[in-house]
Amino acid sequence: MSRPKHPNKDIEIAVKYAEVNGWRYKKSGKSAHAWGRLLCVLENREGCSMAVWSTPRNPVKHAQQIKRKVDQCIHDGGLDE
Ligand SMILES: [Zn+2]
Repeated sequence: MSRPKHPNKDIEIAVKYAEVNGWRYKKSGKSAHAWGRLLCVLENREGCSMAVWSTPRNPVKHAQQIKRKVDQCIHDGGLDE
């Protein structure tokens, strides 16, 4: 449960939305532009992942992209694959 708070409030809200839906934060290694990644409940390669930028040009839009990705995830846990 230790992840850095996102500096942008809209994106922070989107990240919390993802977490509520079972997604996890993962620190991203190399890129300085990336704040981190969000990974869905499926803990393998087939799972969804979403790069979260530190300072996207349009934070509101980026926040919407995060929420959309979460909504599109079909790996809800307990669903048939
Ligand atoms: Zn997924």
